Amino acid sequence: MRAYKVYAIGNGTVIDHIPSGCALKVYEILRLNEYDHIVTIGMNLESKKMVRKDILKIENKTLSKDELNKIAVVAPNATINIIRNQQISEKFGVEVPDVIEKIIKCPNPKCITRNQHVETKFYKMADKPIEVKCHYCERVFAEFGLN
Ligand code: ZN
Repeated sequence: MRAYKVYAIGNGTVIDHIPSGCALKVYEILRLNEYDHIVTIGMNLESKKMVRKDILKIENKTLSKDELNKIAVVAPNATINIIRNQQISEKFGVEVPDVIEKIIKCPNPKCITRNQHVETKFYKMADKPIEVKCHYCERVFAEFGLN
């Protein structure tokens, strides 16, 4: 197994075990472009738990559990490490929130959210695998795109 190295951070948030290829979606969902924190993205890393994984490190920013739970729609098995003074001070997983706003695009082409400027809103029906119900057209989906 080849060794890889994503440099360690002193303080901040590390999001590990993101499905390979999804790091940029996680970046968008967390709106990291709106901050000037240093973000390091590692893609296609080898993993013991997964075939390949992505990892994202945000320096000097501790994200809240509510913010982080939003990424569960693309990275349900992500592991969050909160780093303080070079040490892992907290480690936890993510959970799909009960209400998901804006992130998911309704797959129903007749849904009002697809035809008018209405922000999407979904309710979690099941966790793993994920199933969501659209607030507007009331259809249930297991597969969907992201806004
Ligand atoms: Zn809908």
